[in-house]
Amino acid sequence: MTNQCGECVRDEVLPAHTVAILRSRDYGLRPVADLAHVEVGAHKPLEPAGWLVRVVDSVLSEGILDPILVTPGPQGLELIDGNHRAWAAAHHGLAAPARVFTPNCGDCTEESFAEAAMSGTSELGWKY
Ligand SMILES: [Zn+2]
Repeated sequence: MTNQCGECVRDEVLPAHTVAILRSRDYGLRPVADLAHVEVGAHKPLEPAGWLVRVVDSVLSEGILDPILVTPGPQGLELIDGNHRAWAAAHHGLAAPARVFTPNCGDCTEESFAEAAMSGTSELGWKY
């Protein structure tokens, strides 16, 4: 799954120290490493109880399977999607595969990028 044009998206593996300073869109651009377990775990009202624990277990045993989604912002890379996976990586010192969106062609938008990147996930959009 890539963006339409193929030139605005690249796949990278972000080292743990880079994941730790990703600025979370869902948490007011705070760095992932500063987020407490309880607030990340309680973020989405539809999330099953203990979801973050399951994600962390999965990430520790299998690694991060689906790339997190990031884009450059004025203060550094911003996290569009993948708070749980990024949190798990940042707090356990793991690298994270990332799909990096840098608008370049004039046609691609963050919306089209996120939609394309998440099109293969479950109906609830949960993945790790
Ligand atoms: Zn493009």
